[in-house]
Amino acid sequence: MKNIVLTLPTLILMLFSSLATVHASEEAPAIKVQALAGGGLHLLQGRGGNVLASIGLDGVLLVDNDYADLGPAYEKAIAELSQSELAPGFIINTHWHSDHAGNNEYWGYRGSIMVAHNNVRQRMSTTQEMPALGMTVEPSADIALPLVTFADSIALHFNGNDIEVQHYPNGHTDGDSVVFYSNDNVVHMGDLFFKDRFPFVDLGSSGSVSGYIANVSAVLARVDAQTIIVPGHGSIANRADLERYLDMLKTTTAQVYASLDSGQSVDAIVAAGLGPQWESWGQGFISEERWIQTVAAER
Ligand SMILES: [Zn+2]
Repeated sequence: MKNIVLTLPTLILMLFSSLATVHASEEAPAIKVQALAGGGLHLLQGRGGNVLASIGLDGVLLVDNDYADLGPAYEKAIAELSQSELAPGFIINTHWHSDHAGNNEYWGYRGSIMVAHNNVRQRMSTTQEMPALGMTVEPSADIALPLVTFADSIALHFNGNDIEVQHYPNGHTDGDSVVFYSNDNVVHMGDLFFKDRFPFVDLGSSGSVSGYIANVSAVLARVDAQTIIVPGHGSIANRADLERYLDMLKTTTAQVYASLDSGQSVDAIVAAGLGPQWESWGQGFISEERWIQTVAAER
């Protein structure tokens, strides 16, 4: 009979190597990087909203920055792409939600300048109630607040791109911006686009289903068959994907409104469902039931 003898040095070595493994995976969750056509644009994906990074001679510009705990992981990914330790010069916030603007504080301490619609700064400065999620969000630290705000639109000129940040009225929230890179024909839509999923419409932040549909129609009119569309959540999309999304929005809201008009209760509409063609759309953050309730709440 053979005994396995673990000497003290072996035990210590095993302990340290397992600690190192745990430590490394906690410190650097993977950020998925995808290069987009032209001008040094990259899609970065962690756990929250999609991040678009422009990397070039002018430095780094981000659109959105994901959840707060992912700051170091993004810092590492950006340093590898840019071959530099410099923090992003500018960060555009498409809206105030913490899965998109969660690292404003992290980057604020590192000198980045946040740019957003007036209502983003306003909402981040005050306590926010999100009844749909049963959440209360405390005001952000001053360092996290956008230093540059605007009412309608603002332009930035960075790494060879003319970048237009255009506000769209009450849709996902009341501070939604869509970011257009005219030279590279790339658009980041923030949460005005959940690819192949029902959207979250934050009624507590003055979002609106009818406004949301109007905004998606307006963006669709501005893009062409070659435009690379970055949704707030989901993979890279094109005009056909956005058209399909708009069709879903129009068809399902008309369906809910028609049922309400015929005297059906919201519960009855939920029980009947929207039909098999929309089943996969409810498998994300917003279920079919939640989508029906949101649409009905505005009627
Ligand atoms: Zn959002």
